[in-house]
Amino acid sequence: MESNSDGSKWTSDLCSGCRVPRIVLANACPNLILEAEVQSKFLGLGRSVKVSARCIRTHKPVEEPEIGCGLCHQPLTGFELAEGDE
Ligand SMILES: [Zn+2]
Repeated sequence: MESNSDGSKWTSDLCSGCRVPRIVLANACPNLILEAEVQSKFLGLGRSVKVSARCIRTHKPVEEPEIGCGLCHQPLTGFELAEGDE
C-alpha cells in the first residue's frame, strides 16, 4: 500500500505561495542561504512553505530575506577579520 503521509513531498502547488523567487529577485546577496520547509496546516488542510534565511557571513538568521542581513551591503569593516571561520 502506498502512503500519502509524506508531508515533506514537494508539489508544484507549494511554489505558488513560495517566497523564494521573490527573495532571489530582490536580494542577490551571495552570502544569503535560503531554507524552505514544508509545513502542514491544521488538520492537514493544505500546506505552506516556510522560508527562512541566514547569512553565511554573519552566521545569523536574516529576518527580512528580501532586504538581506544588513551587513553584506555595507562597506567592509573589521568584521570578517574578527569573526574568523567558525
Ligand atoms: Zn549577509
